[in-house]
Amino acid sequence: MNTALIFDTALANTKPETMHHKDNYCPFCDTTHLTNILAQEKSIIWLLNKYPVLCDTWPTIIIETDHCHSEFSEYPLNHAEQVLTFTLSKWQETIDSKRFASVLCFKNHGPMSGGSIRHPHSQIIGLKDYDYHLTMEQKHFDGWLMYEEPNLQVTLSKEPLIGFSEFNIHFTNQTSIRNLAKTLQDILHYILREFARFTSSYNYFFYTMGHDLYIKIVPRYVTPPLFVGYGIPETYDDARADRIKSALLPYLTTASI
Ligand SMILES: [Zn+2]
Repeated sequence: MNTALIFDTALANTKPETMHHKDNYCPFCDTTHLTNILAQEKSIIWLLNKYPVLCDTWPTIIIETDHCHSEFSEYPLNHAEQVLTFTLSKWQETIDSKRFASVLCFKNHGPMSGGSIRHPHSQIIGLKDYDYHLTMEQKHFDGWLMYEEPNLQVTLSKEPLIGFSEFNIHFTNQTSIRNLAKTLQDILHYILREFARFTSSYNYFFYTMGHDLYIKIVPRYVTPPLFVGYGIPETYDDARADRIKSALLPYLTTASI
């Protein structure tokens, strides 16, 4: 059975912070002082997290670029493809090590995302005792079909984990990583530019579900109180889901520049 992860607040208080104070020192720009590097491909660097704030975990970070104020959707498609290829391979390598009950892979962006460093990065965290597959269900990835192409489908959750908006990309080991990178960038463009006013934060998360793979992309706002108090997720009606599909499709069907 899964039990809550223990968070080391004393250690967390010593972490650098640039998400809200962008003039603070950025440790990911200062690459000469990085330690415990696990792998590197040009500006993409995988390393141990210096601040292991969650007990019984193996926390690592992937620095995605040397551009401190960039963001995944702003990368040239070639770089986005390279970042995603690198990330998926290191995530798989960690899963294959069989050292963990499950392995998280996710990204925080923006002040409402829960992240502390602004510099574009993602995280791979091995959990020694917690298996997320015990709580994630297939229904959390199903929903209104927004878009599909060979080996790739995009849905908007009808039964989200939290709500309101959870976009899911279903893919497999046969999916073109370039197409996956473009789809992820397109959904982020839609979320950041059009989806709702003042959306400046998002998370995305990777999952294995049997032989299938998913990315769940979540625009972040204040958590809805019905979820906080009662664990009740909220979602849309069919008409609103249709309008979201109409607005999202032009992003997904336009060739990248
Ligand atoms: Zn930086």
